[in-house]
Amino acid sequence: MQRTSEAGASPATSRTALTVALVALAVYTSGMVVRPVGAGWDIVYELVFYNTVSIAAVVVCWRASRRAAAERTAWRALAFALLINAAGDVVYTLVIARLPVEPFPSVADAFYLAYYPALYVALLALIRVRVPRFHTSMWLDGLIGGLGATAVAVAFLLGPSLQVTGGDPATVLTNLAYPVADVVLLALLVAVGSALGVRRDPTLLLVAAGMVANLVGDIVYLNLSSQGLYDAGGTLDLSWLVAIVLMAVAAQRAREGKSVRGRLEPSRSRSGWRVVAIPLSCNLASLVVLALGWGDRLPGLAAWLAIACVLTALARTAVTFREVRAFNEVKLEARTDELTGLANRRALLEQAQAVLDGATARAPAALLLLDLDGFKEVNDSLGHHAGDQLLRQVGPRLQGALRGADFLARLGGDEFAVLLPGTGLDEAYACAEQLRGLLLEPFMVEDIRLHVGVSIGISTAPVPAASVQELLRCADVAMYAAKSGREGVHIYVPAPNGRSGDRLRTMEELRNALSGDELVVYLQPQVDLCEGWIVGAEALVRWNHPTRGLLSPAELLPAAEQAGLLRPLTDAVLELALQATARWWPDRAVPVSVNLSVANVTDLDLPDKVGRALARYGLPSSALTLELVEDTLMADPERGRTVLGELRALGVRTSIDDYGTGYSSLAYLRHLPADELKLDRSLTQDVITDVRAAAIVRHTVALAHELGLSLVAEGVEDQATATRLAELGCDVAQGYAIARPMPVDDFLQWLEEPTWALVDEVS
Ligand code: C2E
Ligand code: MG
Ligand code: MG
Repeated sequence: MQRTSEAGASPATSRTALTVALVALAVYTSGMVVRPVGAGWDIVYELVFYNTVSIAAVVVCWRASRRAAAERTAWRALAFALLINAAGDVVYTLVIARLPVEPFPSVADAFYLAYYPALYVALLALIRVRVPRFHTSMWLDGLIGGLGATAVAVAFLLGPSLQVTGGDPATVLTNLAYPVADVVLLALLVAVGSALGVRRDPTLLLVAAGMVANLVGDIVYLNLSSQGLYDAGGTLDLSWLVAIVLMAVAAQRAREGKSVRGRLEPSRSRSGWRVVAIPLSCNLASLVVLALGWGDRLPGLAAWLAIACVLTALARTAVTFREVRAFNEVKLEARTDELTGLANRRALLEQAQAVLDGATARAPAALLLLDLDGFKEVNDSLGHHAGDQLLRQVGPRLQGALRGADFLARLGGDEFAVLLPGTGLDEAYACAEQLRGLLLEPFMVEDIRLHVGVSIGISTAPVPAASVQELLRCADVAMYAAKSGREGVHIYVPAPNGRSGDRLRTMEELRNALSGDELVVYLQPQVDLCEGWIVGAEALVRWNHPTRGLLSPAELLPAAEQAGLLRPLTDAVLELALQATARWWPDRAVPVSVNLSVANVTDLDLPDKVGRALARYGLPSSALTLELVEDTLMADPERGRTVLGELRALGVRTSIDDYGTGYSSLAYLRHLPADELKLDRSLTQDVITDVRAAAIVRHTVALAHELGLSLVAEGVEDQATATRLAELGCDVAQGYAIARPMPVDDFLQWLEEPTWALVDEVS
């Protein structure tokens, strides 16, 4: 608990210590004006009040080191510096000053000088926490600052002190040590400011202000004492006390948990004038030193330091040039696709944003999304190397057909995009057709002529897509539609009710649903109309949507189709259906029917997938019937026949669904390798009342039987219709009259004790 309160607010001890320091400073200051007369009082002032400021500051710094773990070294070093300084004072006041002849150097000097290294450590440690990594340019800026400051200091401030060279070596050394220590401190301070740039960091600024106050005191002291004018206990001594108090205030601000590094990231704070201000001033100051020093008016060391400063600035300029060039290269690389040298997705997004900013309904922009067909096969059969070669040829081929302002990018894999500024739908469509034509020409890859196709989706902005993300998604939807419909080029059409946003969201959610467990199958039983046995169950997909409840295929299938997710959807349903079947198959050999969609007809892997799925659940192929809607088969009769043939070769039963809703002729059935015909509800619902409907059913049944197909009547809603359909020769019935589609667990229960009475009535 104690720790938490320390971390949050200013801890009491620290606050009290700071107050003590301030009060002691006030008393000491007022004592300069009026103080009780007597040597004893002088001792009290010099010893007690002066050092109380130091000791209280030590306590504040020590508490800060306990509180702010990241800055621990800094505050400890500062506490040590102040402590050793106070010790020096005590020794000086109590011992040295009382000796008849003050020795120089004395023990007090050792304490005073030890103060500086600790100060350097404190300053460097504060910087270290703030800047995790120094770049070359930062080092150079620091060096410029350090050299410039030293040049100025040597030239104008410390010149006289540096010339004090009389006396024995110890005296000379000690005499020199103070100004050198001060110059190093000054150089360090300016270097740090130079490297970090000017920044709003109160802690650092307070510490720096303290050090500057200290420096001013030292420099004035050096000058006065070199002329024998220093008056101990005078106003000058205040500068050192103020320095100590400033550092204590800085320490008081130290907090645990302040994300010091994040706040002071160099990339954010080193910008604009803040970066150049200090190095530039140091450089100018160096030039002034050089100009004024003309004719040996200033120490030679100052001139050399100034020259070094100017040379470092030149080096800094060279580094800046290099950094800018490297930055540009990195920027370019980050926007280029490595394989093809075309722009990449990031570049496209940026360009699209720029184009969209200027696009209006009258001057729209268009995006074409291209996805190669059959690229996977090239990769699989000829290897990735060949695939890469093919991808590299796409860019140059397309580029020829594009205008100067058009922007071609590779988005990844075999997906490319073309951004067409100032282009409406018609023009975009024409362009897409042209690009498609170009890609349909054979490619030469490793001396093989390869034919690949391409599916292109088109969308425009600002209507219907108002943002870059939307534009990409709409073009994506259109591209999938082009792919699944095998149309080549498809234009994105918003949903008729204008709720394209909803549709897009649904599609996005569906992608997630497919990888989760939101999809379920409901099962609807099929019964033999003569015997009354259960002969099958149809698996019908449902989407257990987290917010919209249970969604039917009517809501889910269009979204899946638009998103190009029909194949993965079938895969998921197949999996769920077989998983369920495996639960009852050992007791009841009732096969399950799964619906296929148009996308499955073009899926060359389907037979393999089905085989593997059956094996996974230990089911024979007779446990599965696959339904294909009549229209799907008519869309590509050749392909439909092949797929049905391959599936049948596996031993899986095949069924033609919704028969009667399409335009297939009965003669066409002859060529289809199917086992079952499902009569659509539109044909079966009126068989009692409509003689013509009954006649159609009767003849269809006869023909189907003639061709060896069994006949299932769909949508049987009442028992009378079931009876009539049985009379007309239908073999199997499915519909509400028997049972509505139900969850798998309910179906398992239903299998145990079927709750329908059709058997009795029919038989
Ligand atoms: P479908 O394959 O013809 O399935 C029969 C549909 O008729 C089911 O609708 C079922 O609930 C409904 N139905 C059953 N008995 C009756 C009845 O007595 N009266 C009426 N009015 N309707 C009845 P559902 O589940 O809404 O499915 C609609 C269509 O969605 C299915 O028609 C099928 O074409 C498609 N579908 C369902 N699940 C899948 C799937 O997993 N994949 C694919 N590609 N399509 C599916
Ligand atoms: Mg069906
Ligand atoms: Mg049907």
